[in-house]
Amino acid sequence: MNKEIATPTRTKDVLKKHGFHFKKSLGQNFLIDPNILHAIVAASGCTPEDGVIEIGPGIGALTEQLAKQAKKVVAYEIDDRLIPVLSDTLAPYQNVDVIHEDVLKADIEALIATHFGDVQHIHVVANLPYYVTTAILMKLLQDTLPLKSITVMIQAEVADRIAAVPGTKAYGSLSIAAQYYAEARTVLTVPPTVFIPQPRVGSAVLKLDIRETPAVTVEDENWFFRVCRACFANRRKTILNNLTQNLVTKGQKDVALRGLEMADIDPKRRGETLSLQEFACLSESLCTCLN
Ligand code: SAM
Repeated sequence: MNKEIATPTRTKDVLKKHGFHFKKSLGQNFLIDPNILHAIVAASGCTPEDGVIEIGPGIGALTEQLAKQAKKVVAYEIDDRLIPVLSDTLAPYQNVDVIHEDVLKADIEALIATHFGDVQHIHVVANLPYYVTTAILMKLLQDTLPLKSITVMIQAEVADRIAAVPGTKAYGSLSIAAQYYAEARTVLTVPPTVFIPQPRVGSAVLKLDIRETPAVTVEDENWFFRVCRACFANRRKTILNNLTQNLVTKGQKDVALRGLEMADIDPKRRGETLSLQEFACLSESLCTCLN
C-alpha cells in the first residue's frame, strides 16, 4: 500500500516522478508532515456527511486526508503542471474533483449548487498560497457563501491580526472584516520545517466559524467598513482626527464630533480600542449625522 502523500519520502518520489519544480510566485510550500494534516482535518470539524472546498491542493497531501474524512472534496488548483500530478496521486479517491482555475476568479456559489447538493455542511480547508491569503479569505467571507467553517494554514502574523481582540497591537480593520462574518481563533502554530520548501515566515492554522448572521447589525456594510478603515488609517491618531482626515471633509469636523457623541465614544480614543459593537454604533450615528 502507498504511504500517505504528505510523507517526505512519498512527496519527494511524486515530485521526482513528475519532474515538478516549485514556483515561488504561486506560494508553493507543500506540507510534508502527516500529523499536521491530521490536525488540520480534525480542527475543521468536517464529518463523513460534509463537503469540503480546498484551495490549492498542490500534489494532493491535504486533499487525500480530506477525501478520507469527507463525503466530497472539490479542489481549485491554478497551476496546470499539477493537474496530471493530482490525477495520479488522487486516483484511489472517487470523491474528489479537481478544478483547474484561479480561485479568485471562480464562481464558488455556482460550484456549491452543482457539487454539494447532497452534503450536510460545507467547509473550506486549505494550506493557502500566502501571497493571496487576504484576498481569498475576504472573497470567501464577503460572497456570503453557505459555509459552516473555514480552516486554513496562513502566515502566523496574518492569523494573529484576524483573530485579534480590541486593545491589542494586532487588532485592525482586517480583524473587524473577518470577525463581522465569523468567530476567529488560531488553533495551531506551525514551524517552517513542516513545509517543502520552507517558508521564511512562521505559520498558523486559523479556524473561522461562520456566523449565521453578522456579529453586528448595520444599515450599509460598505459604509461600516469604510468607517472602520478610516479609524485605523493612522494608528497613532485619535478617532476624531482619523475621521476628519480620512472619512468626512475637514469642514465637517462637527459632524464627526456629533456622530461620536451620539455613539457615546470619546473622540480622543484610538481606533484599536473600539469593539465591533462600538464601530457599528459609530457607523450608524455618522450616517445619520451626514444625511
Ligand atoms: N495543499 C498543498 C499542501 O498543503 O501541500 C499545497 C499548498 S501550497 C501552500 C498552495 C497551493 O495553491 C499551490 O498548489 C499553488 O499552486 C496553489 N495556488 C496558488 N494560487 C492559487 C489560486 N489563485 N487559485 C488556486 N490555487 C492556487
